[in-house]
Amino acid sequence: MQQIRDAIRNISDFPKPGIDFKDITPLLASGPLFKKTIDAFAERHKDNRIDVVVGIEARGFIFASALAYALEAGTCLVRKPGKLPHTVHRESYELEYGTDAVEIHLDAFEPGQRILIIDDVLATGGTVGATARLIRSNFDVEVVELNFLMEIGFLNGREKLVGEKIFTLIND
Ligand code: AMP
Repeated sequence: MQQIRDAIRNISDFPKPGIDFKDITPLLASGPLFKKTIDAFAERHKDNRIDVVVGIEARGFIFASALAYALEAGTCLVRKPGKLPHTVHRESYELEYGTDAVEIHLDAFEPGQRILIIDDVLATGGTVGATARLIRSNFDVEVVELNFLMEIGFLNGREKLVGEKIFTLIND
């Protein structure tokens, strides 16, 4: 795990002053480390009968698609407003200033399916919290876990995710 941690680069003051951005592009550029990352998630879920891995726009898509392939599961895109072509369900969430929203196709799942949600970084938890609500309030499915490559602990994202099962591969 230390090698994976070392392959995530901190970029200070991006995209705004005061933000320490976790740049995963060096990790993605390494075949062995990307494989190790996906293998670790796949090992965790090998007996979990996951039907669909949900990726959150945009870097979550990278992990969701590779993990879905490894688990022989489907993959599903949760996107920012206006990006999905078919009819959508939408869930809004609060930002520091204003609101944002996530959307999903209304036919994304079949009843009873077991769903795994994945994203690269758990920061304030707003995005993934809205994603979990979006899925739970519109579909009769089981959200098995919320998974992340890494968590920025001091932002206390977990406080917004009470009752959710959370797994992060590495911590800040
Ligand atoms: P949040 O809703 O605050 O948990 O933010 C989560 C989303 O924003 C994830 O999709 C991350 O990709 C992205 N994000 C938030 N903060 C950072 C950060 N410091 N470095 C990299 N990505 C971040």
